Amino acid sequence: MTLTPFTETEERQALRREVAKLASAYGREYFTEKARAGEKTTELWLEIGKQGFLGTNVPEEYGGGGGGIGDTAAVCEELAAQGCPLLLMVVSPAICGTIISRYGTEAQKQRWLPGICDGTGTMAFAITEPDAGTNTHKITTTGRKDGDGWVLNGRKVWISGIDEADHVLVVARVTDDGSGRVKPVLFVVPTDAPGFEATAIPMEIVSPERQFQVYLDDVRLPADAVVGDEDGGLVQLFAGLNPERIMAASFSTGLARFALDKAAAYVKEREIWGVPIGAHQGLAHPLAQSKIEIELARLMTQKAAALYDAGLDAEAGEAANMAKYAAAEAACDAADRAVQAHGGNGITQEYGVAGLLVAARAGRIAPVSREMILNYVGMHSLGLPKSY
Ligand SMILES: Cc1cc2nc3c(=O)[nH]c(=O)nc-3n(C[C@H](O)[C@H](O)[C@H](O)COP(=O)(O)OP(=O)(O)OC[C@H]3O[C@@H](n4cnc5c(N)ncnc54)[C@H](O)[C@@H]3O)c2cc1C
Repeated sequence: MTLTPFTETEERQALRREVAKLASAYGREYFTEKARAGEKTTELWLEIGKQGFLGTNVPEEYGGGGGGIGDTAAVCEELAAQGCPLLLMVVSPAICGTIISRYGTEAQKQRWLPGICDGTGTMAFAITEPDAGTNTHKITTTGRKDGDGWVLNGRKVWISGIDEADHVLVVARVTDDGSGRVKPVLFVVPTDAPGFEATAIPMEIVSPERQFQVYLDDVRLPADAVVGDEDGGLVQLFAGLNPERIMAASFSTGLARFALDKAAAYVKEREIWGVPIGAHQGLAHPLAQSKIEIELARLMTQKAAALYDAGLDAEAGEAANMAKYAAAEAACDAADRAVQAHGGNGITQEYGVAGLLVAARAGRIAPVSREMILNYVGMHSLGLPKSY
């Protein structure tokens, strides 16, 4: 597809081309075969790590590329556009990599970032809980001081990639510092720690990456498991959540491009009335609409990334939410239109289009739902009263 010099540097465009080339050597068939066999895409993950594409947003002295979230988002989009959407890109380099780069101690950066960058030390991220859901202020997983260290207890749900991660960055509440306040604190937890258990949740997404219920039962951690200032709370968390939204948007626009490319190729070939079915406006217009919606979502995603990389966290928050919304909508519509354009073939495993529906649909729910973005825009952009 044509790249956009209007917003992106030549360097960023070159990065996109290199990632697209690497990912196309694997492709959708590889990805779905791994998913259906219950296997992992470890070769692809390690290769993108080896080529320096995983940690593009992490400082160079810790094994990263020294770029911004816009680079990592471009990598995520190009992987998805080749049929290999990798959710762990959103979690490991973007959320965990950003938070540790910004708020970790020197020792923590040296310990965790090189593995996040080369793919050998993937880190999952756990904030969602069964009884809190969208309302993350209500999380009950608790960190309690125990001598020099900590003890963690609680339960998390829908946590991606526990089976591929050595560690998980867990958001817990701490109440016992004597101040009477509840504050969110970030802990790096080894996935093989005594008291840490994870159970896979059977999902309908065609993906090698799985989601888990996580149980933390008296998990003991050393003092240096805490990332950032114990009192830094929400600010530190949001340092990771805006990149998460930008990455989720890129995941969706990449998926949408993949669906649209497949649909456009199909309607140019398939002839049943003496002309390719793409000659009919009933097929061409929805695909053209998708093209427009995807490009608009990509532009907003690039804007959000540019704002974030310029250090404008507040402005990036609005743009990241809008980008994430627009991209998820574009992906859902593109996947649906791609299925329709393929007729019966749209539902076969051979054509591999229907499998995109659930993955695209997940973008309307996670990491922040469509409704919560509308709540945010209503309140912050329009100044309406808080509605939740
Ligand atoms: C594929 C996938 C991967 C995920 N990976 C991770 C991960 O790695 N780590 C992690 O921590 N979490 C992860 N999540 C969790 C995800 O962030 C949550 O599913 C999401 O935040 C929604 O929470 P919930 O599912 O509990 O829905 P609920 O909070 O129960 O909400 C249900 C519905 O009600 C709507 N709703 C709720 N409150 C309001 C309101 N006030 N106004 C209007 N509508 C409202 C929501 O928008 C949603 O549509 C993942 C989820 C999925 C599906």
